[in-house]
Amino acid sequence: MSADWSIDGRAEVLAIRNRIREVVEYMKFELCPGKELIELTLGDPTCCGILPPHPDVLKAVSDSVLSGLHNGYKMSKGSEEARQALADKYSSPGSVLSPDDVYLTHGCSGAIQFAFQALLSPGQNVLTPRPGFSVYNTMCSSLQIENRLYRLDPARTYEADLTDLESKIDSNTGAIVVNNPSNPCGSVYSHQHLMDILTLAEKYRLPIIADEVYGNMTYSGNKFYQLGSISESVPVLSCSSLAKIWLVPGWRLGWLVIHNKKGILRQSVYDSFNKLSTLTLGPCSLIQGALPKILSVPQSWHDDVTRHIECTALTCYNSLQKAPGLTPIKPQGAMYIMIEIDFSKFPDIPNISEFVQLLCKETSVKLMPGSCFETNTAIRIVTVDKKEKMQEACDRICEFCSNHFKP
Ligand SMILES: *Cc1c(COP(=O)(O)O)cnc(C)c1O
Repeated sequence: MSADWSIDGRAEVLAIRNRIREVVEYMKFELCPGKELIELTLGDPTCCGILPPHPDVLKAVSDSVLSGLHNGYKMSKGSEEARQALADKYSSPGSVLSPDDVYLTHGCSGAIQFAFQALLSPGQNVLTPRPGFSVYNTMCSSLQIENRLYRLDPARTYEADLTDLESKIDSNTGAIVVNNPSNPCGSVYSHQHLMDILTLAEKYRLPIIADEVYGNMTYSGNKFYQLGSISESVPVLSCSSLAKIWLVPGWRLGWLVIHNKKGILRQSVYDSFNKLSTLTLGPCSLIQGALPKILSVPQSWHDDVTRHIECTALTCYNSLQKAPGLTPIKPQGAMYIMIEIDFSKFPDIPNISEFVQLLCKETSVKLMPGSCFETNTAIRIVTVDKKEKMQEACDRICEFCSNHFKP
């Protein structure tokens, strides 16, 4: 080996950041001796071990393997059968979809990447929510796109602050990202609020990238509206996957569904997605083969999963009301609760990273700092584990806050 031969990683690639992964994979947490770790950081429903996938889903994959029919390449954008099954699932009376409106991707993240790459050029900006999911920023950092954050209002259960959203739009804006139901906020937008967002998008002629990976995962009294089916003219690229609703994030199968009622997205946009698909030749064929059966899991099973998560989420919400200095925001869906922190009441804790690290050191409860979601004043709890364990975690958080609170 030659001593003067060395190769560096490219600066553009080294600029890529995924803040969730930085915390989960690299941040150092000390534990409190004698207290069992309660890990509530990762939005992975399989971590708690009490939410298995539906047995039919496992059987569908095992059938797919044993059939021997799904070992070869599929179409780059996904097999016709899988895309047809998705078109059927997401069609509504106002928005009838064909398999040509659907592209299979490497998880929902892959769908988001497709949407960003197809719609946005380097130097343009995209409006994304704050607090918001870390992957939007990751995509921007990899594509030299400006991530322009619009405010979600905690006082209105994290609805978009439309005045702020509008003020951030300029001639370089290429799209608006709407995440409903929201990670990390647990919010579910009303029909009216979604219509207001659509009105704004129409006024400025902007397409919407809808991250709907939590689809129907909504708590009692909250209904999910598919943005693409209520939009009359604004083009909507809906991104989703098997990860959360079917509880199998590791299977890495996602999809992008195009709602283009007025034909505003030209054929060249579809061609762009076709070309992007040919970069990596599509997601795993075995899961594609199983997809039609996976999608037909009865809704009642999904509802049972959501009821469990709702019950835990509301337990946390109620219990954390008692924590001095914290304001939990009542969740309406997905699998998270956000808690706003009044740092003026915790003079010995300088910032959000210190908050989660000290909390872990003193209570062995591990949470996600808001900095992963572009906010420095909140923490996120994943609410999928057993109710008793979540109660214990909340009790420890309350005690921690009482110990450090200075009125
Ligand atoms: C989990 C999550 C994703 C990523 O989904 P994958 O299918 O695992 O890529 C995307 N968006 C949001 C809001 C998420 O919470």
